[in-house]
Amino acid sequence: SQVAKITFKTARETLLASNPAARRTLGASRKAQAKFVSPMIGAQEKQEVNEPAIIDERLKHIDPKMIELIESEIIDKGSPIGWDDIAGLQQAKSVLQEAVVWPLLRPDIFTGLRRPPRGVLLFGPPGTGKTLIGRCVAAQCRATFFSISAASLTSKWVGDGEKMVRALFAVARARQPAVIFIDEIDSLLSQRSDSEHEASRRIKTEFLVQFDGASTGEEDRILIVGATNRPHELDEAARRRLVKRLYIPLPDFEARKQIISNLLRSEQHELSASHVADAARLTDGYSGADMKSLCSEAAMGPIRSVPLSQIVTIDRDQVRPVTVQDFKIALQRVRPSVSQDDLGQYVKWNNTYGHGF
Ligand code: ADP
Repeated sequence: SQVAKITFKTARETLLASNPAARRTLGASRKAQAKFVSPMIGAQEKQEVNEPAIIDERLKHIDPKMIELIESEIIDKGSPIGWDDIAGLQQAKSVLQEAVVWPLLRPDIFTGLRRPPRGVLLFGPPGTGKTLIGRCVAAQCRATFFSISAASLTSKWVGDGEKMVRALFAVARARQPAVIFIDEIDSLLSQRSDSEHEASRRIKTEFLVQFDGASTGEEDRILIVGATNRPHELDEAARRRLVKRLYIPLPDFEARKQIISNLLRSEQHELSASHVADAARLTDGYSGADMKSLCSEAAMGPIRSVPLSQIVTIDRDQVRPVTVQDFKIALQRVRPSVSQDDLGQYVKWNNTYGHGF
């Protein structure tokens, strides 16, 4: 992708600048004794014909299999997201623009007191756009986006969690600017309890070491974005490092209207602007993800009205448009997923630890 290309070029230029001898090794065939060649960069070769392999010192001590795993499972290559793809959340968006996007784009003027935070926390109910924001920030900074769930470090990568954390930061350094998005960060940086397993304690320690390394490296352009639905479980060490803590609340009326309109854009439908507003009014308390479920449910209406015997053969244009009635039915089936109790907890935590807008 374009994003990967830019990053790759930067890494390559940096390497050539610091080690002109590397130029001589470019394009040379690899021998058994040759220095380690990153398979990650090798993957780029396929896209960039004539772009030869490069050697990145930062990845020398990292298990190539781990690099491959990070490349295939953790680096997100989805289509880039723009601010307008995220409904509402104006304040969080402008804070992020100023605090992290501009500094990552212009590290030369954001120095000293203007130096950006290296860690940001997005907290709030599930399905409110935290991941979307992470992806958007990465796209706006033309950064490589690494996305990992903290829970997978302790479960999926059992035994290898620590190595994985080290590899993740090494690849991020090689591919910077980089945004590392850590979902469910509470499960990694929770308050230490007696029952904490030795393995997860070690992963946590390694993470903190890497985090601190990435935040003290003057040259490193790595941003850690943590997301959580359980901010109250974070400990003091986590709060201290995730300097900007932004509440990502449920969408308000305007945002819900925008989500419905955006989702309907790709569908045949008969809803007027005032119908969309009605639906937005009736969905107070729904998360962005709930809104999506609601619209998907409504969009099934036309399909369900096709006689069973015709479903396989019917012409695409014969499927009727989505109607207001479909939305009415969907509203009875799809209910909000977040409770008032939970919302109260977020507001309370936000008042104590959140970034005031
Ligand atoms: P979170 O990370 O907060 O749990 P996500 O960012 O994964 O939530 O959102 C899940 C889905 O819900 C998104 O893919 C999107 O379809 C929808 N969604 C949530 N919030 C928004 C929003 N503010 N604007 C547009 N779509 C949203």
